[in-house]
Amino acid sequence: MNVSPVTDLPEISAGDDLAALVAERADGDADVVCVASTVVSKAEGRARDLADFPAGPRAHEIADRLAELSGDEKDPRFAQAVLEESTELLMDEPFLLTETRFGHISVNAGIDRSNVPDSDILLLPKRPSESARRLSDELGVPVIVTDTCGRPFRHGQRGVAIGWAGLPASRDWRGEHDRDGRELGVTVESVVDELAAAANLVLGEGAGGNPVAVVDGFDMDGFDGSDNLFRSVDGDFVRQALRGWSYA
Ligand code: GDP
Ligand code: MN
Ligand code: MN
Ligand code: MN
Repeated sequence: MNVSPVTDLPEISAGDDLAALVAERADGDADVVCVASTVVSKAEGRARDLADFPAGPRAHEIADRLAELSGDEKDPRFAQAVLEESTELLMDEPFLLTETRFGHISVNAGIDRSNVPDSDILLLPKRPSESARRLSDELGVPVIVTDTCGRPFRHGQRGVAIGWAGLPASRDWRGEHDRDGRELGVTVESVVDELAAAANLVLGEGAGGNPVAVVDGFDMDGFDGSDNLFRSVDGDFVRQALRGWSYA
């Protein structure tokens, strides 16, 4: 499998036809195209200024508490933006861990301050799987929208899928057998996250200017899959434990 960058993409702004810009530059052999959420957001006009988020009482409360804990000043308008992008606050200290409106759980609702010229902040795409669907329809290949995220239990960030279209999120290994003939009972492999992580290696995090990677030599044909990626509260015991701890 090869993962390679699509080079020479310009700075992306609101209204840009991202699919056309990628199609002009990508060579023909793509099985999957991975696109950093940053440029999807820019194209979809999701850059904002903090002035767009006048802070309510809850945001002030949160910012004051986070400032107290960190010793740094915290802008309550940023907390307001996080609240407005979220359906649930899982942790309100020492950072904001929230569920976004499309089901992805991340710090600060995935709101980014890097690689955002001319605006204070960049919100994640509103419906990343719908963004992926539009790009996939235009490009004629499966598309994954990625973001760089931290994770619990381990240091270091990596790319994850926040939207996808044209391929299932997961490959279901259940019912297949290991080398000893034992039937696999639980393994559902999160293929879109694995591809997003590989793509993220190529995208980088800084000034590299490579927001799109093409995967060649991978396909899901012939595998059973599912689109379950974001756990619901019911089936997420870590989240339940966190809730118990956070709000007890
Ligand atoms: P995120 O992981 O979705 O938050 O995206 P990053 O901010 O980590 O950026 C991923 C890659 O895309 C990096 O190589 C950035 O330099 C690049 N990048 C970000 N915005 C643009 C843009 O508008 N145009 C180009 N050509 N590259 C960009
Ligand atoms: Mn970024
Ligand atoms: Mn990001
Ligand atoms: Mn990144």
